[in-house]
This record gives sequence, C-alpha cells and structure tokens, in this order.
Amino acid sequence: MTHQVRAVVARGKGAPVSLETIIVPDPGPGEALVKIEACGVCHTDLHYREGGINDDFPFLLGHEAAGVVESVGEGVTDVAPGDFVILNWRAVCGQCRACLRGRPWYCFDTHNAQQKMTLASTGQELSPALGIGAFAEKTLVAAGQCTKVDRAASAAAAGLLGCGVMAGIGAAINTGNVGRGDSVAVIGCGGVGAAAIAGSSVAGAAKVIAVDIDDRKLVTARKLGATHTVNSKETDAVEAIRELTGGFGADVVIEAVGRPETYQQAFYARDLAGTVVLVGVPTPEMKLELPLLDVFGRGGSLKSSWYGDCLPSRDFPMLIDLHLQGRLDLDAFVTETIALDEVEKAFERMHGGDVLRSVVVL
Ligand SMILES: [Zn+2]
Ligand SMILES: [Zn+2]
Repeated sequence: MTHQVRAVVARGKGAPVSLETIIVPDPGPGEALVKIEACGVCHTDLHYREGGINDDFPFLLGHEAAGVVESVGEGVTDVAPGDFVILNWRAVCGQCRACLRGRPWYCFDTHNAQQKMTLASTGQELSPALGIGAFAEKTLVAAGQCTKVDRAASAAAAGLLGCGVMAGIGAAINTGNVGRGDSVAVIGCGGVGAAAIAGSSVAGAAKVIAVDIDDRKLVTARKLGATHTVNSKETDAVEAIRELTGGFGADVVIEAVGRPETYQQAFYARDLAGTVVLVGVPTPEMKLELPLLDVFGRGGSLKSSWYGDCLPSRDFPMLIDLHLQGRLDLDAFVTETIALDEVEKAFERMHGGDVLRSVVVL
C-alpha cells in the first residue's frame, strides 16, 4: 500500500517551494511511517532550496519534527504504532568505528529509510532533507530516526529538539561540557544560540553572557536564561566578555554564527585553558587566521559541535522531561505556528530578527 499526502517540495535551485502531492510507501524492514504533527522551519531547509547543499532536486523539505508512528516495518521493536516521537537525523548504526568504540553520538554511518518517496505528478524520486522530509502529512524514515518522548509536550515545541534547538543545547551541555558555576558566553543569539543559552542555564552556569548585534534577540536571550547581554555593534564583544568575567574571559565560549570574525572573538573572549565551541555553520569560502602561538599559549580546547553531539535516545526524552518540569522553556522557541502552505513566507521572515522558529502545525 502507498499513501498520498500533501508535502512541501523544492523543485529547482532558488525557486519558491510548492505544495505537492507525494506518494509515501508503507514501511519496509527497519522503517517507520510517521504522521507528522509539527515541523519547524530551519535555515537548512532554505539552504537546500537554494542548492547550497547538493543538486539532488526535488527535495522534500522539513526536518525538525514530531509526530505519531502510524505503522512500522518488519523487525522494528524500538517504536510501535501510536508512539509520540521526535524525528532525528542521527539514527546510529551500531557498527561504525565510532559506535564500536562506545561513542555513538559521533556515528559516521547513520540510517535513513531505504525506500523512496516520490512526486505523484511525475513519479520523480524525492530527496528528503537530512533524510527526514517532514513538511508532509506523513513521512517515511528509518525506525531509529524515531525517538519516543512524553506525549504531554506540545508537538510544535518537541519537534524543535530534532535539529536546531538540540544543536544549541548540545553545544553547551555535550560539546562544551558546561557545568555548575561555569561562565559561558554565546556569540549569536538566533535559534541555535538561544538554545545554547537555555542549555547553559539548565546545566547550572553561573554566568551566561549573550552577544548579538540585534537588541530584539538579546531580549529573548534574557528570557531563556542569559544573565548579561552585549550588543556587539555598540561594544567590543571581547572586551565586554572579559570585563564581565573579572578580566579573564569565559570558561566556555559558544560561537553560533559561523564566521571567521566571530570565531576570533570567541577565541579571545575565552579564559586561559577554556573551551571554544563552534556550532555556527560556515560557508565553503571562509578561512580562519589565528596566530599559532596564541592557539598554543592559551591552552584549552577548540571544538566543533555537530548536531550538539547529541545521542537522540539519551538526550530527547531527558530534555522533554526537563521541559515538562518547567526547567527548559521549549515553547519560547516557537515564535509562530503556520500552515503547510506558508513555508515560503516563513523563509522570507527568517532574515528578520524577530523569529526564532516558525513551526508548521498539521
Ligand atoms: Zn555508527
Ligand atoms: Zn535544521
């Protein structure tokens, strides 16, 4: 059996997305069919549409989603029909060199569905964004891409853990190892940076300094746990962070912009032996220049955070529990809820400073 559903598709480079009918097969071995309830609009979706990731058009967009498992294929035991799940793009393989060494959050061979979803009109195979494709009434994924969480959370908030919010929280708690009493600075307070602030706060950081050039984002940062804010258009970010940390710099500085200039700020705003975490995504032409003597002399560690070094099976249920206890405000990331045919409009709004996430609710 197959399912005909409505979905948001990017047909060609730079062209506006369109609402299309797609065909979703029943789950085969190791796969799950998920009825999507909500899916956030992420920069990566726009990046796919602009041809910035690869040229495998048409893309089925959407990847920050939560929904309910409708059916599962042969051999699937971890999730069952009726489970409320967050979709992830790190369904660990258990076999690669990272998994075998007990570090599955680095898995280098993550799983996606084997069967293809297709465009009803032309029969063309779709490339699902990050192996998910959730701007759709239903999608087909590898069962390992479904992580069961407490149904009490709203789908709009829960789905955001599937990508950007997890990347930010994980950059703080997993990659940066932020702990009780640490001082943290976060440079760039968009969706990911704001999540890094919330993550640092929930991890027990004593000082959380939010840095951005947009005052509106700094207001949101305060709501999510920032104890200090710095507008780096008006003030030198490095000096301001040092001043706020007794002249030394922060224990952990999280770079959530992905540019050489802000990376350099992060590097010098860090205390000796501190940690820099790069979670902002750079573009291919960017180059970083730093005096090697400073890299050596200042010690500590310079790390990159990919998907917040998360392990969905460990992190998603835990973060949803913290959210339901009132300790992690995931609802604050949902700026607006929109319909499936409003994704293109959400892309346009993305460049304004007032949207953390637009979330499609089905
Ligand atoms: Zn693996
Ligand atoms: Zn994303």
